[in-house]
Amino acid sequence: VSRFEGITMAPPDPILGVSEAFKADNDEKKLNLGVGAYRTEELQPYVLNVVKKAENLMLERGEYKEYLPIEGLAAFNKVTAELLLGADNTVIKQQRVATVQGLSGTGSLRLAAALIERYFPGAKVLISSPTWGNHKNIFNDARVPWSEYRYYDPKTVGLDFEGMIADLKAAPEGSFILLHGCAHNPTGIDPTPEQWEKIADVIQEKNHIPFFDVAYQGFASGSLDADAASVRLFAARGMELLVAQSYSKNLGLYAERIGAINVICSSVDAAARVKSQLKRLARPMYSNPPVHGARIVANVVGDPTLFDEWKAEMDMMAGRIKGVRQKLFDSLSAKDKSGKDWSLYKADWHVLLHRIEQSSVKIQRKPTSRSNKKKESENMTNKWHVYMTKDGRISLAGLNLAKCEYLADAIVDSYH
Ligand code: PMP
Repeated sequence: VSRFEGITMAPPDPILGVSEAFKADNDEKKLNLGVGAYRTEELQPYVLNVVKKAENLMLERGEYKEYLPIEGLAAFNKVTAELLLGADNTVIKQQRVATVQGLSGTGSLRLAAALIERYFPGAKVLISSPTWGNHKNIFNDARVPWSEYRYYDPKTVGLDFEGMIADLKAAPEGSFILLHGCAHNPTGIDPTPEQWEKIADVIQEKNHIPFFDVAYQGFASGSLDADAASVRLFAARGMELLVAQSYSKNLGLYAERIGAINVICSSVDAAARVKSQLKRLARPMYSNPPVHGARIVANVVGDPTLFDEWKAEMDMMAGRIKGVRQKLFDSLSAKDKSGKDWSLYKADWHVLLHRIEQSSVKIQRKPTSRSNKKKESENMTNKWHVYMTKDGRISLAGLNLAKCEYLADAIVDSYH
């Protein structure tokens, strides 16, 4: 008998499990819209040209593979903080940012969670309802207590701003407030600049600590700077804050696991101490981070020519998705005779992801139970071979023009 008898079967991951089911499906019409990964019009994975160029440079230079320091590649840490905050930001000039390379967005969030667990015992993290599914796992495993603040309002299919503010006010003083820097996942709804100001007001009043998750810089608006505006607004107020970054989406470096945790502190001294403790937490967890992705980012962001090429490529990717959204909207409007408003599919921001949940809620204006919602996504998958997360989220980054008509048929059939 196995010594592991007491270990029960874990459920499949709600997001990555979708890809496993997709692989097992032999129907040629199948479409995977579960994971938020960018595909080409041919539905192939895409490696950015700037990434290939950076990799060629790295090969030519014959760079070695020795260990990085615990905090990661210095050139990466420098450019990543500059990309986030702007190179001439006072917090950078005054060396008040502790930046540590992390294992992409997830690993950076996890490292920050470990810091909170160790140095803010009992402090709560407030996360939006809904949020990216892995946030709850991360804080659970780090043993950091969390609760939700209101964010999405199905009645208006928009931000529940009053509810959000009320919940931030009601939270225990000194809580960590997890905020999506841009392109909120899964709703796609971001606060307006005026709303960000009010959110910052309340956070300051309550002595909370903002904790940004920036996984889509450059993809929400097409502008790297505009998408960092929320973070910069908080930093400009002199607040201390945490920011996790990811290069999975905007540089397509998913599997390289490259990102960072930045802690903006009110003094150089605090930043140095925070950085030393982040390193201390990282060392027994994974020792030091991988070098390849860090070198790619350092080469692309650190070189003016490659940097411009990256921006053009990002624009191209965002543009392709925008075209797909328009086509899907047109197809849905033509096929659906019930007068539903499909305009959410072609929202005018450049973003790739996540707004369908909103739309699917909007489609279901009539009261529907959770199981009904599940029935609809099951119909999408079982009958139409369209793979998506059970909450009704599809990633439009994985769709192409050629499949828009087919997807529209599936949606109209499933969500009537
Ligand atoms: N945060 C959010 C909101 C995300 O959507 C994602 C990617 N789906 C991540 C963090 C982290 O992804 P990664 O670990 O690949 O950087």
